[in-house]
Amino acid sequence: MTSALSESDRAALRTAFQMPAGQTMMSRSSTLTNAFVASLIPVIEPTPEEIAEALGILGMSPTTVRCAYCGDTSSEWDHLRPLVVKRRPTGFISEIANLVPSCGKCNQSKGNKHWLKWIRSNAPLAPARRGVADIEQRIERLSAFEKWRDVQPIEFEKILGRDEYHAYWASLEQVLDSMRECQQIANDLKRRIIEAHIR
Ligand SMILES: [Zn+2]
Repeated sequence: MTSALSESDRAALRTAFQMPAGQTMMSRSSTLTNAFVASLIPVIEPTPEEIAEALGILGMSPTTVRCAYCGDTSSEWDHLRPLVVKRRPTGFISEIANLVPSCGKCNQSKGNKHWLKWIRSNAPLAPARRGVADIEQRIERLSAFEKWRDVQPIEFEKILGRDEYHAYWASLEQVLDSMRECQQIANDLKRRIIEAHIR
């Protein structure tokens, strides 16, 4: 039956199918790192007055909240300054002066990049690449927001002491090492399953 398929049929069928994304243990390693960072950082709930001030700087009101980066419908508030860079906390936290409304596309695309570099970049789904018309005005608003409060990174290591701080990150490395070991065991078991299954 398959021999009756033309080349274009075969191409169309391949496009129609998509294998669900497989997950390995190591594909969860950045999630784990993020969890280690997120578990440390303070989360400060804003007052309604602070929310009003933040929205005002961004040129929005509670009824006109949009993604600050591209103007699409916002679905979340994104950390303007990233919390994690190179697998360690930057010292910035979840507080109103570091959060702006964002759409999922922008949040995903921005990742832990610097917002200004990213917004003008050619990164997939970045506002410049998507041709957002009022990008310069958005940059102006976001720059004003960035200056709103004198936000400085918290020096976690200074507060906690070098030893305790480094012990915490060593425990992350231990967990990652165990995951790598488990992954190797799983790879071997899977190979044997495939061999038995194909016979
Ligand atoms: Zn957006």
